[in-house]
Amino acid sequence: MDPEHHGDHGTHPVVPLEQALHAARALVLADLVAREVAEADVVSLVEDSVAHRRWWVEQWPEGAGFLAGLVAQDVQDALLERYGRWPLCPVCGTGDPHALEVEPELGPDPHWVCHKAGVRVAAVGGLGGAVTS
Ligand SMILES: [Zn+2]
Repeated sequence: MDPEHHGDHGTHPVVPLEQALHAARALVLADLVAREVAEADVVSLVEDSVAHRRWWVEQWPEGAGFLAGLVAQDVQDALLERYGRWPLCPVCGTGDPHALEVEPELGPDPHWVCHKAGVRVAAVGGLGGAVTS
């Protein structure tokens, strides 16, 4: 954490919340498109998460950088109830199909990780460019 005392002149270099929410939404939608599940009702799951996280980040603006990882996990949870595991691991060619997980769960620069193989597969928003096997 930055120990510097912040003035109260309203010039904090934080990313505007709407911009951060918009970016998180775009990243998760990109991953949904990459995995071909971006149907209308799935998109509404993203909207639900973004609406919920808008409230969350207004309470805690410092968390703006964590939004992409959080929205990704919200959508992953919602999809698990309605469709099943998402996104399926593209790295492991054998064994049971399993989903990637977001790491860190609450932090900046979130990535999709396979815990079985112990590899970072792609950044959240970058699944379309991930190597598939
Ligand atoms: Zn895997």
